[in-house]
Amino acid sequence: MPELAQVVVDVPTMQTNQPYTYQIPATLEKQIQLGVRVVVPFGKGSRTVQGFVVGLDQATDYDGKLKPIQAVMDLQPVINRELLTLSKWLADTTYSFWISCLYTMLPNLLKAKTSRIVRIIDEVSEDVFFDIFHGKDELDLSTVQDQPAIISQLLKLKRAGKVAIDYRIEDRARAKTVTGIRSRLTFEQLEDERLGLHSNAHAQNKLLSYLQTIGEKVVKLKEAERLTGLKAATFNQGQKKGWLEKVPVEVYRTPLGQTPSPDDQHLAKPLTLNDDQAAAVQAIDRAIDQQESPTFLLQGVTGSGKTEVYLQAIAAALAQGRTALMLVPEISLTPQIVNRVRSRFGSKMAVLHSSLSNGERFDEWRRIERGEAQVVVGARSAVFAPLKKIGIIILDEEHEASYKQDESPRYHAREVAKWRGKYHHAPVILGSATPSLESRARAVKKVYQLLSLPHRVNEQPLPPIQVVDMREQVKKYGESNFSRELLQAVDQRLQRREQSILMLNRRGFSSFMMCRDCGAVLKCPNCDISLTLHMDTRTMKCHYCGHEEPIPQVCPNCHSRQIRYYGTGTEKVEQELQQLLPQARIIRMDVDTTRRKGMHEKLLRQFGQHQADILLGTQMIAKGLDFPNVTLVGVLNADTGLGLPDFRSSERTFDLLSQVSGRAGRANKQGQVIIQTYNPDHYAIKDAQAHDYDRFFKQEMGLRHQAGYPPYYFTVRLMASHPEEAQAAKAMAKIHDRLKRGLMPSTIILGPTPRAIARMKRRYYYQIVIKYKKDPHLHELLFDILQDTQSKGYKDVQVSIDPDPQYFM
Ligand code: ADP
Ligand code: ZN
Ligand code: ZN
Repeated sequence: MPELAQVVVDVPTMQTNQPYTYQIPATLEKQIQLGVRVVVPFGKGSRTVQGFVVGLDQATDYDGKLKPIQAVMDLQPVINRELLTLSKWLADTTYSFWISCLYTMLPNLLKAKTSRIVRIIDEVSEDVFFDIFHGKDELDLSTVQDQPAIISQLLKLKRAGKVAIDYRIEDRARAKTVTGIRSRLTFEQLEDERLGLHSNAHAQNKLLSYLQTIGEKVVKLKEAERLTGLKAATFNQGQKKGWLEKVPVEVYRTPLGQTPSPDDQHLAKPLTLNDDQAAAVQAIDRAIDQQESPTFLLQGVTGSGKTEVYLQAIAAALAQGRTALMLVPEISLTPQIVNRVRSRFGSKMAVLHSSLSNGERFDEWRRIERGEAQVVVGARSAVFAPLKKIGIIILDEEHEASYKQDESPRYHAREVAKWRGKYHHAPVILGSATPSLESRARAVKKVYQLLSLPHRVNEQPLPPIQVVDMREQVKKYGESNFSRELLQAVDQRLQRREQSILMLNRRGFSSFMMCRDCGAVLKCPNCDISLTLHMDTRTMKCHYCGHEEPIPQVCPNCHSRQIRYYGTGTEKVEQELQQLLPQARIIRMDVDTTRRKGMHEKLLRQFGQHQADILLGTQMIAKGLDFPNVTLVGVLNADTGLGLPDFRSSERTFDLLSQVSGRAGRANKQGQVIIQTYNPDHYAIKDAQAHDYDRFFKQEMGLRHQAGYPPYYFTVRLMASHPEEAQAAKAMAKIHDRLKRGLMPSTIILGPTPRAIARMKRRYYYQIVIKYKKDPHLHELLFDILQDTQSKGYKDVQVSIDPDPQYFM
């Protein structure tokens, strides 16, 4: 039996970012295991905190002064050995606290802080019983936390031995149960009971027979009623007579039900693969077979059958007795993709995403943890699903920025997937029609293995894309969100009773200046990144190098006065569209209309049933939707993304336009795409129009090389914040100094500069971006800086470090 435990405590500071040793009291010996949560005393006084057991030891030179663990919160580990090891790696590579990484891996219900229950164990006065305990035996301490008078009275009672304080064990408390029944008698005893029955007691006779058939099993009451056709009253009689007892049966809150719907029957069978698909599946199968962990880049245009490749590769892993993890971006976690996976794998599948309730999420998590679900489909955080014996990991739409978490711990699901792939000796599949530059560059260098699906399965050509020059439109017809071409096309769909999807690109909303006459975007002379408007200082600023200039009154390129900051809201656009086409039925989909649970699905279902002619929405409508009656896709403003102060803005624009074009003409009707832009000559738009990823890749790689951005350089962003701007700036200057002295001369330090949104939540933010190829000192130096910033010299300064940031705003 181990006598000592290493515990990572829930005190997120650099100084406490290490395991502490505690003594295991004899009473808890059997319950303490690696990966359980415990309550331990910490620091001065009687303060206790929650923590995770991350190590167990024999006491060798134990001097008896160690504090004991106070309570165990879990009956069994909530973090297994693999995830424990992963959490350490995660903390190290993302510059985060170990404790935050451990919590990140758990479903919300298990993240809750300890709840402490006060229980009456001896007689108390009526006043106490009724006024404090409200006539019950227990009280949740957190409900009276802010009432010092009550707290002090409770403490007195505790000293007097009248009440005890327990820690609630989460797992027991949170599981949902229904009533089950179990026979209390043996077969023979039940037979004896039958002899004592009236000859006309048919129902009871039937119940006895049923109890004889179930033996010692527990059956849900509802199910027993259904199977026997008996009423609840009969079971109650049986209970009164002592034939059966009622017991709680744990059930899962399954978010989607587990049986595929009959409508999806046709999805159940694997399809016969075409040659490209077969070659891809074969390569993946071989890796699964030989327990190797290469990373494959599966590149194929929309409709080329990537999903079918995933499904068959998953089947191959399952056939080997292994499990499968499939990640998709949150916005493409539509019922459509989930149905496809479920039709193939039924109750073997679990789903994890953000619109599940905490209870549902917890139950899905437990099904996975217990090995009852072997296929997990989920968004980013599902990469931590507690699957065992993983045989394959898939990231669909691998280029999506949402795979990177933008708060601590700032992990990228792709990197975590690769780590888990290595751990389990399983291949990782990165799938996309428009791979990230980083991934494609690795495939070129043979670090990843490229698998391509160059053709659409149905041999349908990709829809023709028409680019409309909005500069002309504005000149001819005045300002509007809709060009003549687009309006006409939508109108035509209305006549033909076909549907349209219109997308409003909301990225970079009103933060940059663009000329409505020539399309020029105001850029930094040093960085070739667009300048961001700061209303507080009335200037345009570069967030990379700090360059600053006044807000222009005329376009520096063509001297037009039509220079504006850019951006429109969906609601305004909807109004305009309704005015222009009064007969059209419009569904608007944006963060406002989909905030409520289930609304996303509901709106899509309505559109699918043709209860509307037009689906108008933000980027969230770009992915994964598959509506056969949609023959027109329009992008209202392709430019907004281009104006962002971010070196990835062209890439994101290209991705988005390629994605959204794939929505048109999925079935056998020919589709049409119209893109409105003020920059019709921009390469991202032209290449998307030509459906030419390779040409875009070459051009963009050239620019990245020139400017020194990924994939040629790695980047890290440091941020410092303080309620006073001068303090944030001062701290950043100090950090800048240390970096300058500590890093290689070849490493480039940009900044410090104020962030795009310089003031958030009453704090001012400054940032530094580091670009490097190889810098052996960087990792350690950054940790040193984190350590230091928690010391006195940096009072109230918060510093965070973001490796490989996806956004620079
Ligand atoms: P992607 O994921 O690349 O967009 P999908 O896997 O969704 O492509 O395939 C597009 C369509 O083609 C789907 O309706 C799918 O059922 C169908 N499909 C895929 N592979 C085949 C195949 N081998 N034979 C027939 N139909 C297929
Ligand atoms: Zn201009
Ligand atoms: Zn600049």
